[in-house]
Amino acid sequence: MGGAPPAHSAAHLRRGRKGARVASPAVTGPEHSRPAPPLTLAELDALPVSRLRGVGERKQEALAEVGVRSVLDLLTYYPRRYIDRTRQAAVGDLRPGDEATVVVEVLRASTQRTRGGRSLTHVEVADEHGRRLRLGFFNQSWRERQLQRGAEVVLFGRVEEFRGRLQMTNPVVDLIGDRTARIVPVYPQSDKAGLSTWEIAGWVSEAMRRTEARRIADPVPGDVRRRFHLVDRHEALHLVHVPDSMEAAQRGRARLVFDELLRVQLALVERKRHLEATLRGARHDVDVGPGSLVARFVDGLPFPLTAAQRRVVDEIRRDLEQPHPMHRLLQGDVGAGKTLVALAALLVGVQGGHQGALMAPTEVLAEQHHLGIRALLEGLVVPDDTTLIGERPVRVELLTHRTTAAERRRLGAALVAGQVDVLVGTHALIQDGVAFADLGVVVIDEQHRFGVEQRAALRERSGENTPDVLVMTATPIPRTAAMTVYGDLDVSVLDELPPGRTPIHTVWARDESSEAAVWAHVRDEVAAGRQAYVVCPLIEESERVEAASAEETHERLVATELSGLRLGLLHGRLAAAAKEEVMSRFRRGDLDVLVATTVIEVGVDVPNATVMVILAADRFGIAQLHQLRGRVGRGAYASVCYLVGAAETPNGEARLAALAATTDGFELAEVDLDLRGEGTLMSDRQTGRNDLKLASLRRDRAWVDRAREVAFELVGEGGLAARPELAAEVDLLLGAQDTDFLLRS
Ligand code: ADP
Ligand code: MG
Repeated sequence: MGGAPPAHSAAHLRRGRKGARVASPAVTGPEHSRPAPPLTLAELDALPVSRLRGVGERKQEALAEVGVRSVLDLLTYYPRRYIDRTRQAAVGDLRPGDEATVVVEVLRASTQRTRGGRSLTHVEVADEHGRRLRLGFFNQSWRERQLQRGAEVVLFGRVEEFRGRLQMTNPVVDLIGDRTARIVPVYPQSDKAGLSTWEIAGWVSEAMRRTEARRIADPVPGDVRRRFHLVDRHEALHLVHVPDSMEAAQRGRARLVFDELLRVQLALVERKRHLEATLRGARHDVDVGPGSLVARFVDGLPFPLTAAQRRVVDEIRRDLEQPHPMHRLLQGDVGAGKTLVALAALLVGVQGGHQGALMAPTEVLAEQHHLGIRALLEGLVVPDDTTLIGERPVRVELLTHRTTAAERRRLGAALVAGQVDVLVGTHALIQDGVAFADLGVVVIDEQHRFGVEQRAALRERSGENTPDVLVMTATPIPRTAAMTVYGDLDVSVLDELPPGRTPIHTVWARDESSEAAVWAHVRDEVAAGRQAYVVCPLIEESERVEAASAEETHERLVATELSGLRLGLLHGRLAAAAKEEVMSRFRRGDLDVLVATTVIEVGVDVPNATVMVILAADRFGIAQLHQLRGRVGRGAYASVCYLVGAAETPNGEARLAALAATTDGFELAEVDLDLRGEGTLMSDRQTGRNDLKLASLRRDRAWVDRAREVAFELVGEGGLAARPELAAEVDLLLGAQDTDFLLRS
């Protein structure tokens, strides 16, 4: 490295090819001899790839198709893997059945039509010792053009034996061109766009060479780099693109992974700090000692709080004590007892004279919460000097779309007058223009997406102070993922189930004979006085089709497998009143079996139900299955969850096997992350450019922790504004939309 000729300097790069004969700053005399400062990412982003040799209009378009427009894009277009030429198998070592990577040269290729009308391309290749291997590609006649005589390629595939000769069918092919390095980076290629991995490698090396003189700026302080043994950024990019060993590539990768995660954490920590600095929360009476409303509530319960519940209530109490509003995510597996924690939070608000709101995702759940909370708060009183005895019962009201206009007016007046203490409703509450006298605490059940907009809507509802917000979810998120996606929230975890739960036994009924046993068990349980759910296959395309299919299933079960039992049907297309009617009949025990779509996914709480039958279970995701299973095992009786049907994909197989193996939501969340990848998770939240190109929330767990630690250090008291270089990078790479608050602070 080093010693790049002036014509390759970054200054030249900036002027483009036409300026090649203009002397570079390094040789124009003493007044210019001060070295130019290192190149920032923004500067690299301002350089179009067309400045690189060999990137003409056509290649420029091809690169744009894979999202590469600037030199920065190119330098962050990372190799998808590396080939260590010295460690590849030779054709002579291959055994039928092996999955192997070999480096070979193309001898010839030809295409023929099969009788079935398909095309079959045969390619003859040989390794450096001349040992031959035959490749077959079906319906890929373009391979003939791709695999020209003499081309050097890397193959990955399963070795087969055919008529005594070794062959591979449809192997993964990477053309590596005539690159002689020991370690060959393989870039994601695009056959469609007509980009080859060696072309990309060539442009990347040129860009690296031409940034050599000024080098690429590194805004991460030296002490942080030393603490985690990180190379500087220029070096890291060099190692990732032009490594001389696999270890070197790993060292480069570690640094760039850290950068990606650090930027995300900086944005999140800064947002958190910014909100804390600018928003005022309600002033609360956080006394939970003897005689307080919260203590009277807890003492009145028929059971003690679990240690986890006590810990989380205390975390919330400390949040409420702060001058800035709480924004906390409470994760707790199904049945962990989140409702009591929510109530304790709401009551801290109420005892200080504020109002509380609890929002559920569906009307069914809102109504259920309303009933449950009324029962739990029965007999609790708050001071009220307008009454004769100076106190009145805590008042809990329900507001949903079913509330009549007259009732709505009456409720609205009571809310504004501060006579309602806790309002229960759906998530639509905050959009509905409901005005409170003094909203202090808001609990949002079964949702973790509660963004900036909703917060703004809340602020409008509640005057000068921003209410404290507790968001609850029973969909566990692995810790590092939670930190990355919801890192601007504080997170509490209820990691303990109340005692006395009977664990749910999960059975995967793969075939028809085991399905018969499922219905027999449902009949037995009903005969013993218990109840069951049957969840119909998930049909994503439309609620209408799904409802129709649920109706069919219901009819079939009534006529055959479950004839003679009392069956109810619940799906999304029913009117709200009809839904509630079915639910309350099931709750009262007037129905034995509830045939339903996923509308019962969350929150439904009927302790007498002991069987959950999920039809075509492999159509559901892990989190959904776990939620559905959580509808049983809520009482003292042993419960069973049946996953019915064979899995149609290896992924489905893995999901159902995981469900059958564990009831631990966090373990399942990890499996889910492994199976689905983090893409889905990030897209829930991330807007703008996705900056996680190298980092994996699974593989790089430890780096998530370190990045978060460093982000808190760097943001510090002064905010990210005190670190302008880093702030600029966050803004550049995470998109202004998500981070415009950085500029305002
Ligand atoms: P979730 O976390 O799924 O919302 P809930 O709050 O609905 O759980 O609680 C599930 C059930 O557990 C309820 O019937 C509730 O009364 C009961 N429960 C909650 N906390 C305790 C506890 N500490 N001891 C015993 N039972 C509890
Ligand atoms: Mg709940």
